[in-house]
Amino acid sequence: MEAQTIAALATPPGRGGIAIIRISGTGAEGLLRGVFVPADQDPEYHSHLLRYGKIMQGDEVLDEGMAVLMRAPRSYTREDVAEIHIHAGEYSVERVLGLLWSLGVTPAQPGEFTKRAFLNGRVDLSRAEAVMQLINATGQRSAKAAIRDLQGGSSAFIRQAQEDLLDILAGVAAALDYPEEIDEGEATEGLHHKVEKLASKLLAACDERGARILERGLEVVIVGKPNVGKSSLLNLLLKEERAIVTEEAGTTRDIVRGSLMMDGIRINLSDTAGIRQSTGQVEQMGIMRALQALESADLILAVLDAASGLSDEDEDVLARVRPYQHLLILNKDDLQTQADLPLGIRISAKTGEGLAELRQAITAVAGQPGEGALSNARHMQLARRAADSLHQAAEAMRQGAPLDLCAVDLHEALYTLGEVTGDQVSQDLLDRVFTRFCVGK
Ligand code: GDP
Repeated sequence: MEAQTIAALATPPGRGGIAIIRISGTGAEGLLRGVFVPADQDPEYHSHLLRYGKIMQGDEVLDEGMAVLMRAPRSYTREDVAEIHIHAGEYSVERVLGLLWSLGVTPAQPGEFTKRAFLNGRVDLSRAEAVMQLINATGQRSAKAAIRDLQGGSSAFIRQAQEDLLDILAGVAAALDYPEEIDEGEATEGLHHKVEKLASKLLAACDERGARILERGLEVVIVGKPNVGKSSLLNLLLKEERAIVTEEAGTTRDIVRGSLMMDGIRINLSDTAGIRQSTGQVEQMGIMRALQALESADLILAVLDAASGLSDEDEDVLARVRPYQHLLILNKDDLQTQADLPLGIRISAKTGEGLAELRQAITAVAGQPGEGALSNARHMQLARRAADSLHQAAEAMRQGAPLDLCAVDLHEALYTLGEVTGDQVSQDLLDRVFTRFCVGK
């Protein structure tokens, strides 16, 4: 069945300089000829040549703009693709799209252009997903990982694993087919080692924490009793007046958030209500939320007032953060500080002293996300599943199970790896991957 000709707005909706409407499918050229009248009136459309003209509905001019035809297979989808550049106003975009629908074009589903690029063999599945990863990248590191995948980084890793596995399977097949020449016991001995090694390689490529930090950023929560300088610290880090700083204790009653980039990684900061025994209902709710925030944090900054020394309330805060990854911050170091303080990072939220050391400590906790071979959560899940099947195969070999039984698990692993690159695809898998895209991509 021939694919329908689809269209969608490829640029963000709203007012702006240009809106690009993208059309893909065998009908693209005919449609373009139907709605676009080039100023030079040359009937010939040269592929990839941008032309100036008018967008017409019958005798009515809808807009002036540019249009380009990219003939298959040299296009994003490998189909004929036409792009019409018009003025980005909600009304004119709606009119041009309306005109296309009236001519029988189908509105594109989210990710449908990239899905076609995949189905037509232009990119494999992991590269198609990298397009989305790049669109959603929040910082330099996540963009870098996406670009690496876009250029085939994770595909190359998975294909190598598939090849290693095919080698192992070839060994199994040889032992099964030539039992007189190859001793099954000896064959399993060598294969067992290779299978374990491949499983370890796959597991080593899975850094889920790093992938999550790349995708969503490092969650950092600031806690401490009231008035130690939590809001001031948040402001200093964000370099703007996001949280209200006052001298009255207990004013930050809810969680105040802000994000910043450190060393190419997004850091999501939350400033919480001061933790103390409180009678106020609103403040108690704030304290409850602060305690909940501790659980989901990647890192806690526990702030103490170095000028006033350690109180029972501080001891309580320290006891609460102890089970989690945390840094102790001794704030107000610009003032006369107390002598018997625990070891921590000395800063002054007022003067900015100690900030460089604090930033370094925070990025050290973030680690080096995106350095592993895989950076997409779906790929990691599959790599772990494949590693499980490999472990099962290795265990069966170790226990002296017949080789053809072990081969079942090895094939299972091969199939699972195929789901990363899309060599093995089900409609369900495709739908899951591509509906996460935006319309027009
Ligand atoms: P929070 O209740 O923990 O959020 O504390 P705030 O950030 O609201 O600060 C409480 C008071 O301490 C304010 O008067 C701040 O100006 C002051 N403060 C905060 N950090 C410092 C600091 O490093 N040095 C000095 N001298 N004062 C500070």
